Amino acid sequence: TSYTIEESSLQLDAAQYEAVTTTEGPLLILAGAGSGKTRVLTARTAYMVQEKGIDPKSIMLVTFTAKAAREMKERLQRFQLPQAILHALLVGTFHSIFYRILIHHEPERWSSQYLLKYDWQIDRILKEAGAEIGIDEKEFPYDQAMQQISYWKNTLTHYDTVKPSNPWEDKAQYLYKRYEQIKQERSLFDFDDMLYGCYELLRTNEDLLSRYHNRFRYFLIDEFQDVNKVQYKIMQLLSRHTNNICAVGDDDQSIYAFRGSDPSFILHFDKDYPEAKVVTLNQNYRSSHSIVTVANKIIRFNKNRRPKKMQAQFQSPFVPSFFFPYDEEEEATMIVTDIKEKIQKGANPSDFAILYRTHVASRAIFERLSQSALPFIMEHDADSFYQRRVTKSLLAYLRLAMNEDDVGAIRDLMGALFLKQSALQDVKAISILQDCTLVSALGKLTNIQSFQQKKLQKIVPLFRTLRHIEPLAAIEMIEREMGFSDYIKKRGNEGNAMEKGSDDVRDLKVVARKFVSVRDFLAHVDHMIAMNDEMKHLSKTYQDAIQLLTIHRSKGLEYKHVYLLGAVDGSLPHDFALDAFREGDSTPLEEERRLIYVAITRAQETLYVSVPSMRRGRTAYPSRFIKHLLQ
Ligand code: ATP
Ligand code: MG
Repeated sequence: TSYTIEESSLQLDAAQYEAVTTTEGPLLILAGAGSGKTRVLTARTAYMVQEKGIDPKSIMLVTFTAKAAREMKERLQRFQLPQAILHALLVGTFHSIFYRILIHHEPERWSSQYLLKYDWQIDRILKEAGAEIGIDEKEFPYDQAMQQISYWKNTLTHYDTVKPSNPWEDKAQYLYKRYEQIKQERSLFDFDDMLYGCYELLRTNEDLLSRYHNRFRYFLIDEFQDVNKVQYKIMQLLSRHTNNICAVGDDDQSIYAFRGSDPSFILHFDKDYPEAKVVTLNQNYRSSHSIVTVANKIIRFNKNRRPKKMQAQFQSPFVPSFFFPYDEEEEATMIVTDIKEKIQKGANPSDFAILYRTHVASRAIFERLSQSALPFIMEHDADSFYQRRVTKSLLAYLRLAMNEDDVGAIRDLMGALFLKQSALQDVKAISILQDCTLVSALGKLTNIQSFQQKKLQKIVPLFRTLRHIEPLAAIEMIEREMGFSDYIKKRGNEGNAMEKGSDDVRDLKVVARKFVSVRDFLAHVDHMIAMNDEMKHLSKTYQDAIQLLTIHRSKGLEYKHVYLLGAVDGSLPHDFALDAFREGDSTPLEEERRLIYVAITRAQETLYVSVPSMRRGRTAYPSRFIKHLLQ
């Protein structure tokens, strides 16, 4: 058949062509990274409307991240479909599509003003719930509880049906219940509720569901290995009348288990749909031969997977390389130097991506790029390193040394000293009544326990010393004189279970060392916080800039040159996975291996894997995932 997709310069191999032209009935495309899965999805969509005359309004294309959804739209545009058709297609993330459905049918209940957008909003409710039964955040990190709650919700486990298997889960279940009740009392909802709410809406409302059945007849889902139970159930409800459900994914790239993602949905898709056609793609069109080889050499150690034989379509003179900087600072310098060189030789900034395990790990490269003239972009929703609990508290001391009336810093400091928030009002009152600075007022607080009072009286004079010494010495003095290490022991790991508070202090000292005055150091910090905020929730992906992103966010995307930071044990695989492994559970470790696989398979031409000797101030060892490649 003559077919416009070929004419529009897009070739498809035989397997891809089969997938594209199979438009009716359930279809499963299970294939490795870079094999053209997403391309097949978009080509299939174009084929359906152009060749089959299918109404674009009846097609729903779903993917995982906002970035991937934008990429999908971009790719659809390359088929030169008329604008009207492009607009008629529904392309989006699960959340955006399900939220649209909810807001359309129950606008009051789901109005955006009731959405809990930020972690701190959720924290506040959990704190309230915890206080009711005397669960103290110090012993029971709420962010971990929240993760558990989210997991339960995404696997459709109601709080009454949770069967706690240990005392920890017992408490988490209670928090879950109260959290849900408080939200309901105040008409609030969170992101997970969108999924759950949509499922309930469609499940219990046949009329409404049949209206959706009339509208949508074709469903294409990318990154299917990461669907969770709610998402799958909703898609099944929506597609029940036609079974035109096309699931596309790679079990080796399932990296969202902590949100209830379950690769068994893709692996058992043909059990749920026995009539499903299954297509596998075996050619990798993205990465050079040697990159594909390295990726295969890593992922094959996972026991829990479907083996695949991927073959690269093109050779490249470059082989993936490992480099061995001393620490994060040198790592950043080496990368920036390398990028500059490549740009001088004609590369575009948008050809580069720098990938890392956690947001915190991007601190050094972020700062180095900020100081270079290179354009870069970082899409994220995390606080700056300098706004993390431990660094923020430490910085509060320095800020108060420079300005004894800094209210924000006083608040942070009082948190660090475990003083009640009501004491802040007392401090303000004293400072007005006695006409003294907030810091002096702190020393005059009486309405507190006597050991705290003693401590405060000892602390206040120190502020005057701090402002005259170098920032590094100042931080060391705070640690020594103000009992800061006690603070870390008590609170250091909360709020950010992924990275240790004590490592944050080490990191902060590394930065402080570069400045001779506390004032300059704080100016740098504030600049970095501002830049971090500027890039929060940013979505201008397609401008010509170097991309900084976590591996999780890089899923589905591709870049000519990829740098992977911190390929050391403790980071990739992360410590928590190593701990689980030591206790006999290799599931998290396998997920970490899938993560490094995702990272590596983003690269088209060159791949650089950094193996620093020091990470966050500690000696580091090459990641166990790559050790066998380092000979
Ligand atoms: P991932 O698992 O990472 O999401 P994927 O399987 O979705 O990868 P795509 O992103 O669709 O892979 O394709 C990878 C690259 O290969 C893209 O640049 C795509 O345009 C290209 N490609 C796919 N199929 C072909 C083909 N038949 N001929 C030439 N290039 C192709
Ligand atoms: Mg893809």
